[in-house]
Amino acid sequence: MAVPKRKTSKKVKNQRRTHKKLHVPGMVECSNCGEYSKPHHVCNSCGQYNGKQVIAK
Ligand SMILES: [Zn+2]
Repeated sequence: MAVPKRKTSKKVKNQRRTHKKLHVPGMVECSNCGEYSKPHHVCNSCGQYNGKQVIAK
């Protein structure tokens, strides 16, 4: 249903736009530290892959 623009509060407008953001192509967020790294590669900052510590840091 269409809603007049002025009746949409800033809060609701920003909540809607929370999904609208840029993403880095070919990069995934590490599940452990949240740092961006290559997919299917060991994380460069924490040394974990698939939830396991592969490189001691
Ligand atoms: Zn990491």
